[in-house]
Amino acid sequence: MLAFNEPVYTEKGIGYITEAILQNRRLNGDGPFTEKCTSWFVQKLGVKVLLTTSCTHALEMAALLTDIKQGDEVIMPSYTFVSTADAFVLRGAKIKFVDIRKDTMNIDETLIENAITERTKAIVPVHYAGVGCEMDTILEIAKRRQLFVIEDAAQGMMASYKGKYLGTIGDFGTYSFHETKNYTMGEGGLILINNEGYIHRGEIIREKGTNRSQFFRGEVDKYSWVDVGSSYLPSEMNAAYLLPQLEIAEEINQRRLKLWELYYNGLKELEESGKIELPYIPKECQHNAHMFYIKTKNLDERTRLIYYLNQNNINAVFHYVPLHTSNAGEKYGEFIGEDRNTTRESERLMRLPLFYALKNDEAEYVVEKIRDFYK
Ligand SMILES: *Cc1c(COP(=O)(O)O)cnc(C)c1O
Repeated sequence: MLAFNEPVYTEKGIGYITEAILQNRRLNGDGPFTEKCTSWFVQKLGVKVLLTTSCTHALEMAALLTDIKQGDEVIMPSYTFVSTADAFVLRGAKIKFVDIRKDTMNIDETLIENAITERTKAIVPVHYAGVGCEMDTILEIAKRRQLFVIEDAAQGMMASYKGKYLGTIGDFGTYSFHETKNYTMGEGGLILINNEGYIHRGEIIREKGTNRSQFFRGEVDKYSWVDVGSSYLPSEMNAAYLLPQLEIAEEINQRRLKLWELYYNGLKELEESGKIELPYIPKECQHNAHMFYIKTKNLDERTRLIYYLNQNNINAVFHYVPLHTSNAGEKYGEFIGEDRNTTRESERLMRLPLFYALKNDEAEYVVEKIRDFYK
């Protein structure tokens, strides 16, 4: 069976983990490997970052840093992973879901304003498939209405909008290094902090509410409990696995883009004949080939296509049942406006295998089988 995903593997990853264990003899967080990863990101992105245990936790940190409280409202798309909402629900927020754009599956920026009330605290755009949301419009609304912008860029590392890396555009951004993402440490993430004023408290929240980070830098002579917090720093072994992927980040990105192009060119004819739809990349956006999806006519056709591919040893999948239709989503959120695209478009979308080690002939085989299905 051709897998849907394989986590990125580099030989160096094993070497670095061994080095952490046998040479550094240091496995807890914020050791030399975490530091090297952090420096790489700071240099690449030009903003302050903190490595975290997941993107979920990075979002939780953003919710804590923005002081989201009981009764506050947060605006986001319903077509996203549960963590986008959960991080804010944990703080007592009510989620206001708005519809997505049909072309990019991203939040429809023209519908955001309608969902704002005097209780709204933040907008959380999700850069679906590593394709940027319409950030200029979102930032303009946020500035005028004095709201935070927290970018869920879980899928967006290396991708950009108008030349700016996703995650560096709003007040905060978050990446995921889950094994299904373009770069991985098994479970892990990153919080990007654009406003210098939040860095100090970010370090404290990540270190169980203590000023231990300052203590290690020698800025205070003992550390103590100073604020709320949790344990959001990953082990050195995880950071050691991630580092070699950062060292070849561009190579991984180019390889994924090549596979994406292969799918795109192989399936273009089916789109031209009106059988399927292919992803759309706005000209403002440079994507990172996080995902290749096609859209079938409807749910029934998608079910049959997934079954057909499975019969041919290809694992293609769908995901995200819109959050507003889930039990928790009904309880903690509310869909504002009309659901024109969220449900219908999510039912048509199917993802193809796409990972660093995927071979050209494997991707070509997937193309061939999809073309067979539509014959
Ligand atoms: C993967 C993902 C997350 C969660 O990432 P974790 O690192 O697994 O916590 C959140 N949001 C989106 C959009 C994702 O794709």
